[in-house]
Amino acid sequence: MVRAYVGLGSNLGDREGTILAAAERLGSHRLSRIRETEPWGYPDQPWFLNAAAELETGLAPRELLEHLLEIERGLGRTRNGPRYGPRMVDLDLLLYGDLVVAEPGLTVPHPRLAERLFVLEPLFELNAGLFIPGHGPVGALIRGLQSKA
Ligand code: ADP
Ligand code: MG
Repeated sequence: MVRAYVGLGSNLGDREGTILAAAERLGSHRLSRIRETEPWGYPDQPWFLNAAAELETGLAPRELLEHLLEIERGLGRTRNGPRYGPRMVDLDLLLYGDLVVAEPGLTVPHPRLAERLFVLEPLFELNAGLFIPGHGPVGALIRGLQSKA
């Protein structure tokens, strides 16, 4: 089994219910606090709820990504809107053990993880000792972003 971390986000419909349902479908045994965050990358849309989930998985990285996309579809996500635009649910594979993957359609650690406080903070909450491969300790990344803010 590999320990993986998944980012959960929602800014349409029953945001909290959707995040809790997604965490349950993931079989996550630990969910961070759910926080409200300002939209990023696309203006004029409702605020998001974001959280991170920790799970132990027997799936390979690709299989886990497929599983995430399947859960998104099951929870009513459609992909006809703009990039970074409003969505019922967004599940991102943030970390898969200490593995680094750079393939078409799958990048791990998630490509925008190290620049997003709303992803780093819930990860820190779940595991303050996490090391983000290619970037560094999660606590140091958070302090770096905070000092720029
Ligand atoms: P975003 O999460 O960046 O707002 P999407 O959820 O629409 O965008 O994801 C688009 C595609 O990103 C997915 O279909 C998937 O193939 C690809 N992708 C690459 N790496 C990852 C990852 N680590 N986690 C989730 N999706 C990923
Ligand atoms: Mg996504």
